[in-house]
Amino acid sequence: MKNFDVNAIRADFPILARQVNDKPLVYLDNGASSQKPQVVIDAITNAYSHEYSNVHRGLHYLSNVATEKYEAVRATIAKFLNAASEDDIILNSGTTEGINMVAYGWAMPRMAAGDEIVLSVMEHHANIVPWHFLRERQGVVLKWVETDAAGHLDPAKVAAAITDKTKLVAITHVSNVLGSKVDVKEITRLAHAQGVPVLVDGSQAAVHMPVDVRDIGCDFYAITGHKLYGPTGSGAIYVTRERMAEMRPFIGGGDMIREVTREAVSYNDPPMKFEAGTPGIVQTIGFGVALEYLMALGMGNIARHEEQLKTYAQSRLQGLNWLNVQGNTPDKAAIFSFTLDGAAHAHDISTVLDKKGIAVRAGHHCAQPLMAHLGVTATARASFGLYNTTQEVDKLIEALELCHELLG
Ligand code: PMP
Repeated sequence: MKNFDVNAIRADFPILARQVNDKPLVYLDNGASSQKPQVVIDAITNAYSHEYSNVHRGLHYLSNVATEKYEAVRATIAKFLNAASEDDIILNSGTTEGINMVAYGWAMPRMAAGDEIVLSVMEHHANIVPWHFLRERQGVVLKWVETDAAGHLDPAKVAAAITDKTKLVAITHVSNVLGSKVDVKEITRLAHAQGVPVLVDGSQAAVHMPVDVRDIGCDFYAITGHKLYGPTGSGAIYVTRERMAEMRPFIGGGDMIREVTREAVSYNDPPMKFEAGTPGIVQTIGFGVALEYLMALGMGNIARHEEQLKTYAQSRLQGLNWLNVQGNTPDKAAIFSFTLDGAAHAHDISTVLDKKGIAVRAGHHCAQPLMAHLGVTATARASFGLYNTTQEVDKLIEALELCHELLG
């Protein structure tokens, strides 16, 4: 594949060379957080070693350098998401903050008791709990749309849940548990036809495939830096001009103001209006470098590589008839959740795999409504990233066979 030599790419990630429990690390917990390439680590070190200062407080050399580097990331994110302008990008600490900002700043002042928000049953708690706040505090009604047995979400079912009380559709682009890809473009088309804005949780999608927010047409698109091979505490939300103009600031403090007097406050222009206080300067700079790294590899190339991994993993997992893989939509990312026939708890699976140097996650994956829908309390999850290989799929299968022997 042009531009994509997985072994060369692996060499960019120093942690992949380490051993865990005396075995080469097989890192399959990318859904929780991904590893960092050397360029990102170097950017962080360089920023703190040579270019550190607070931003937007100018008038000295280092502050100007830090501000320039920090502000340049806005344009990088806009390019990564194909937003029309860097002014459509609000920098933050990640998806959780982004969605909370929309809940407090946009939804809360616009919603009254009885108004409705449409969600899918596959949402991560980050795209549930902020809406529960509105339910608890002002009587907003949450309407849940279920997936079919394979984990596919039908856009027509989402549209059918919309009533004249619906004020927002909030939907994930890719499920962090099942890997199901959601047709958010079609959902947006159908919701907009009924005058309802759409928020997309892009945390798990932007890492696996090219994302074009203008093509999707959604109103809000949230991403998180640490899953995109960048530092923790970095992220962004894309917000259309129209919605940004409607949004009230969520956190107040320095930087987001134009003027403060004893009597009144006026605000900075958007998007700065929504960015109060000292931000994650170095994290954001590192995030920008991570996105440049991904764009140099090509998100299309990454998607094709992961598609191959997914197809191979699917074919090998199908051979394990004692393993229950949850969610099998044809259109899914390389994320696999499973349980084992017999008494074994998902945590026992991850413990056995860990002994083999394989990192997977076990639990409810911050998606308890989905767990209830699937009728399980927990699953083990193997989530692949750009640096994983088919040999690592083989190691996973071998270790799962051991789980079956020991636990099944
Ligand atoms: N949404 C989804 C689908 C996720 O997988 C995650 C992270 N597990 C989040 C939201 C929250 O992201 P963060 O913790 O980075 O804010």
